[in-house]
Amino acid sequence: MTVIIDGRACAEKILENIKIKTSKLNKKPGLSVILVGENPASKVYVKNKEKKAIEAGFNSNVYRLPENTSKLELLNLIDKLNNEDNTDGILLQLPLPKHLNPSDFLDKIDPKKDVDGFHPINSGKLLNNEKPYVIPCTPKGIIRLLDEYNIEIAEKNAVVIGRSNIVGKPVSMLLLNKNATVTIAHSKTKNLIDVVKQADIIVSATGISNIITKDMVKEGAAVIDVGIIRGEDGKLKGDVDFNNIKDIAGFITPVPGGVGPMTIAMLMENTLELHLLRNNLC
Ligand code: NAD
Repeated sequence: MTVIIDGRACAEKILENIKIKTSKLNKKPGLSVILVGENPASKVYVKNKEKKAIEAGFNSNVYRLPENTSKLELLNLIDKLNNEDNTDGILLQLPLPKHLNPSDFLDKIDPKKDVDGFHPINSGKLLNNEKPYVIPCTPKGIIRLLDEYNIEIAEKNAVVIGRSNIVGKPVSMLLLNKNATVTIAHSKTKNLIDVVKQADIIVSATGISNIITKDMVKEGAAVIDVGIIRGEDGKLKGDVDFNNIKDIAGFITPVPGGVGPMTIAMLMENTLELHLLRNNLC
């Protein structure tokens, strides 16, 4: 029997717990989100983050900057937030408009306020199997789901499809640090089917609809679908051919309702963790 992993329920439980912890604090944790430009998907994501932060009991600030914001203006805002006591977490919503290069800015966020865990100090710590100030939200949420469903990681074959700095690479490091044998597949990988077929745990993060098909999945494998694609019918779907795989996988995440809600829950958890760290409460 395949278990459909309920990311929504798991995220709700985490958010409830965060709300309780926050209500006992003297000061509210503060999350500042920077949105540059008019990307429609980013606008929805930011609105959702703002809503969840308020529900968690945080101070939520969203800085909506115009498309033509200059490098200097954005650097000045990051500098201001780095020095502002009420801000514990700074999130720069990606993608940025074409004239702005993300690495020029992500490196300037104080690593102790780097709520996404993308600063080289945090990614370097992850690479070295040291404790970063925070772990990137989506990869952290994926590991939390595996743990929540008691899915063994150590000694298992994990295949991650996608090698982005946001998902593919950090989730690979987390799986490796938990003693999985990890293979990273990407756009230049030959014979994807043979590679994926070896996996006890499949994490697919490509944004390509139905890239993971039934013939790639070993019976009983745990299938984690990170992809978010808006179909022509307006509905969200993932990388995985869910309907045809759901009867052979041991565990599978739906889209929506799998990894997505966990990403937001982990963002709130990271904000709280940074607040506790900055206030010497942990
Ligand atoms: P990205 O575009 O930066 O990377 C895509 C990756 O897919 C690349 O590393 C590329 O090598 C790989 N790829 C492309 N074609 C391939 C092929 N034919 N075979 C194997 N690999 C191939 O993407 P990203 O930022 O990591 O996001 C991936 C997907 O996950 C997107 O749909 C994004 O919207 C989604 N996402 C979801 C969440 C969430 O919370 N659920 C969070 C972040 C990203």
